[in-house]
Amino acid sequence: MSTFDYDLFVLGAGSGGVRAARLSAQLGLKVGVAEGDKPGGTCVVRGCVPKKFMVYASEVPEQVAYARGFGWEAQTGRFDWTKFRNANLAEVSRLSDIYAANLVKAGADLIPAWAKLTGPHTVHLTPTNGDAPYEVTAKTILIAVGGQPFVPEAVEGHELAITSNEMFLLDKLPKSIAIVGGGYIAVEFAGVMNGFGVDTHILYRGDQILRAFDQEVREHLTQEIGKKGIKVMCHADPKKLEKTDKGIKITLTDDTELTVDQVLYATGRRPHTEGLGLTDVGVELDGDGAVVVDAYSRTAVEHIFAVGDVTNRCNLTPVAIREAVAFVETAFKDNPTAYDYANIPTAVFSQPQIGTVGLTEQDAVARGIRVDIYTARFKPMKTAFVAGESRTLMKLIVDHKTDVVLGAHMVGPDSAEIIQMAGIAVKAGLTKAQWDVTCAVHPTAAEEFVTLR
Ligand code: NDP
Repeated sequence: MSTFDYDLFVLGAGSGGVRAARLSAQLGLKVGVAEGDKPGGTCVVRGCVPKKFMVYASEVPEQVAYARGFGWEAQTGRFDWTKFRNANLAEVSRLSDIYAANLVKAGADLIPAWAKLTGPHTVHLTPTNGDAPYEVTAKTILIAVGGQPFVPEAVEGHELAITSNEMFLLDKLPKSIAIVGGGYIAVEFAGVMNGFGVDTHILYRGDQILRAFDQEVREHLTQEIGKKGIKVMCHADPKKLEKTDKGIKITLTDDTELTVDQVLYATGRRPHTEGLGLTDVGVELDGDGAVVVDAYSRTAVEHIFAVGDVTNRCNLTPVAIREAVAFVETAFKDNPTAYDYANIPTAVFSQPQIGTVGLTEQDAVARGIRVDIYTARFKPMKTAFVAGESRTLMKLIVDHKTDVVLGAHMVGPDSAEIIQMAGIAVKAGLTKAQWDVTCAVHPTAAEEFVTLR
């Protein structure tokens, strides 16, 4: 008989926590999960899922333009933000309920409460319904509380800005928006807002948005979003935000001023570890507040593990899920498993999308690998009958010596879908010759990946 209330207690019902809890409960373990917000975490509640619906909604004017090119007397009409927002939030609630139901179906206890550790095996729970706090004990604990948007507090008036969390809840669409940052979230919301007809500015502190992506991808995306009307300002670092009768006035460090209706800070995310009592029980945190773990997601305390964004390793939903699966193998199946972070495919739902897997050209050069580069640029077929100069970019990075394809990158329609398949070939370490013997599917954009010469 266990002397603990639970075999496993999970803090956080996001993608990583829920997967770990379900798999563990299915093994017959007694599992509890505490969640203070809607189950589903960032991805389902205020991230990937509602964002993707926003992307779809904001692409409609472009689809209507294609339709007109093909001879349809189509009109975009008026966009009803309130109707869309309510439908989006209702879908989030539906999916969140499914997450909760799946946990319970697997046999886990889902406890609507905020949790913190008060001992190495003790979890203090504050129920969200106002009931009195209480404690439970657990043999193994998993920290899967995710992250939250980071806003640099040194900027005067920063509290006038919103974060990605609030983008899904806006009362009305602004007429103009300045998005601070040049990462995933900045370019994704820039595309969304621009598609909805909002005058959209990106303010990025560096030379070029999307640091760490392939250089040609960065250049290409900057050009493409510029053609669609997004104003990208580089070396633009706000020092002050002020409310005026015309909107929010942003003053940059070079004293340039810009006034907009809304300011969105998309300046990264930080692990959500404050107030969890982690260091008191011996769990180590790094300078950003991330839980320090080994390759098996084990913290400095042997029976306490952490997965997902709270560890700040690779902040992507599918990675958190894979880390959770590896955790269950390690902790409960006597099969220590370290997740392999090499060649993780990823997509940015900018407009156009980016799909990428493996090394960038500059990564390869930095590693001293001699590479052959193959690129194609072309007008996407479905835009053939509309005015405009949009172009797709496809690029392969190939090891000159071994012929292995080290990286595949794409900017253009359907990049996210295409890169998932290219990801299999890069992960499998296939050579360019093996890509080339694969027959093309014609006429597609994807076929370029097997016809590049
Ligand atoms: P990112 O880390 O991708 O980008 C943050 C951006 O903010 C960078 O351009 C950075 O500039 C800039 N920045 C950071 N600090 C400051 C500051 N103090 N002042 C001005 N600018 C600053 O973070 P995001 O918030 O865009 O997204 C967080 C993470 O969420 C992503 O990295 C990704 O892992 C995940 N995500 C994944 C998505 C997907 O898979 N499609 C979608 C959305 C998010 P610099 O480059 O100079 O450091």
